Amino acid sequence: MVDRLSAPHRGPVPFSVEFFPPKDAEAEARLWRAVRTFERLGPAFVSMTYGAGGSTRDRTVRITGELAAQTTLLPVAHLTAVNHSIDELRALVGAYADQGITNILALRGDPPGNPLGEWVQHPDGVAYAEELVRLIDQLGDFHVGVASFPEGHHRAPTLEHDTRTLVNKLRAGAEYSITQMFFDVDDFLRLRDRVVRADPEQGAKPLIPGIMPITSLASVRRMAELSGSVIPPDVQARFAAAAGDGAEENREAVRAVGIDFATEMAQRLVAEGVPCIHFCSLNFAKATSEVLERLGVDASSALGATVG
Ligand SMILES: Cc1cc2nc3c(=O)[nH]c(=O)nc-3n(C[C@H](O)[C@H](O)[C@H](O)COP(=O)(O)OP(=O)(O)OC[C@H]3O[C@@H](n4cnc5c(N)ncnc54)[C@H](O)[C@@H]3O)c2cc1C
Repeated sequence: MVDRLSAPHRGPVPFSVEFFPPKDAEAEARLWRAVRTFERLGPAFVSMTYGAGGSTRDRTVRITGELAAQTTLLPVAHLTAVNHSIDELRALVGAYADQGITNILALRGDPPGNPLGEWVQHPDGVAYAEELVRLIDQLGDFHVGVASFPEGHHRAPTLEHDTRTLVNKLRAGAEYSITQMFFDVDDFLRLRDRVVRADPEQGAKPLIPGIMPITSLASVRRMAELSGSVIPPDVQARFAAAAGDGAEENREAVRAVGIDFATEMAQRLVAEGVPCIHFCSLNFAKATSEVLERLGVDASSALGATVG
């Protein structure tokens, strides 16, 4: 995957898109509409999250395979250690390999039902993502990425501990990391500085910022809560002003601020020299496409720019 980040791309920086496995046929049709829209814009890669339940997990594997077989996109499959024995993890990695998928984002995952609840290791499984990185590496010629956390992972006792965890995952063989979505670019920059300080060699690996164009204040609050992310007060105030004080938020105004805010974040990240921007699309193409267009990425823009 990392080689894609130095390939010609549209606009000032490569971008990538995160999808999640759809629940039903209608949601799957929507996902495919988004996939086809993004395909025309040329993302460096797309990723598919891995859910907690059995049927969602099967859908992740199936749809990631379809992305590999039926599109020109490079899929990155998320894989979590939740409720899986090592044998099951090996079989899943094998199932991806059978479909030609060699890019895997290795994650520990969160406890099903309550992401902030107590993490329980499978009796025959792994305890941390670092072990999953090593496991996947042993299984063949895979390209592994990991998660990183601009505000620190919610279970990490200190930012130093959090940095060490990331550096250890990179030392274990991960080639890059993608961050949790965040709302304060300074948090991302501080994480980047911490990793470079802790280990310059690992700090040279791509640290890809994850951002999400906000289109609804209520839903972003919920997502932030679930991930343990903080929405800074000034950002909250900006969105709250757009939402208004009626019983229902002014969706149109919130969306407009959301597109502005995501564009401003992306522009600053580009100026800071990030290797790629990862968009959490929620399986919709419209808001992310608008941000990309403002960055100079549309289907008609010339391919050619490279980073660095
Ligand atoms: C880009 C991205 C994509 C994601 N995709 C998914 C997805 O598809 N499905 C899903 O369920 N979740 C997903 N998540 C959420 C993720 O699984 C959770 O945030 C999870 O709580 C942490 O995963 P991790 O891989 O960072 O775990 P780890 O790196 O294992 O860290 C987990 C905790 O353990 C601590 N730790 C790590 N190693 C050690 C050690 N050796 N000793 C002591 N403590 C240690 C860390 O500091 C941290 O607090 C994603 C997160 C990100 C940022």
